[in-house]
Amino acid sequence: MKIYHLSTGPLRVNSYFLVNENTNEAIVIDSGENYKKIKQTESDLNVKIVAVLLTHAHFDHAGNAKKLQDDGAAVYISKIDAKKLLNEQNLASDFGRTFDYLTADHTFSDGDILNICDIEIKVIMTPGHTDGSATFCVGNALFTGDTLFLESVGRTDFITGDKQVLVESVKKLFALDGDYSVYPGHEEFTTLEHERKYNTFVDYD
Ligand SMILES: [Zn+2]
Repeated sequence: MKIYHLSTGPLRVNSYFLVNENTNEAIVIDSGENYKKIKQTESDLNVKIVAVLLTHAHFDHAGNAKKLQDDGAAVYISKIDAKKLLNEQNLASDFGRTFDYLTADHTFSDGDILNICDIEIKVIMTPGHTDGSATFCVGNALFTGDTLFLESVGRTDFITGDKQVLVESVKKLFALDGDYSVYPGHEEFTTLEHERKYNTFVDYD
């Protein structure tokens, strides 16, 4: 499995391609707002996107999901945030954006193991930024969406956000054994060990 990264849309969401190099199939984590850029990457990598995994339903992360679903990809999101793909809690209207509403193909819950393109993805529910936010664990990589950033954490002032819940979610990640590469939903990559030491938003020892 190989990981490719691109930054998409005005809010610079990190989208990730997880590629099975034996089958040239790809999973996209957070499809972002720039459909052209995602399709260009699909073509550049010479892969076929078979699934879209969403860390949460906010428009800047989920903006392309309907178009990619129409192209044949299966869309996965938590049971809780799936509802936000169909209502204004995806925040598109608050930010003056259009959003193609969609019904997810699959929903997941905490602890679920997804096996897509022969890639095993463990779901760790990490609510707080939204009540249905998820982190995906793939090998030694964590895709944290808007839960955990480099020396920071996600906003909790949007609808269904909760700061105390977010802090508990980050502690849940910190309590994982060993180190992980952390691929967040915005900004720079980090590692779990770096965040355990330097993230001042969450007291941890
Ligand atoms: Zn968000």
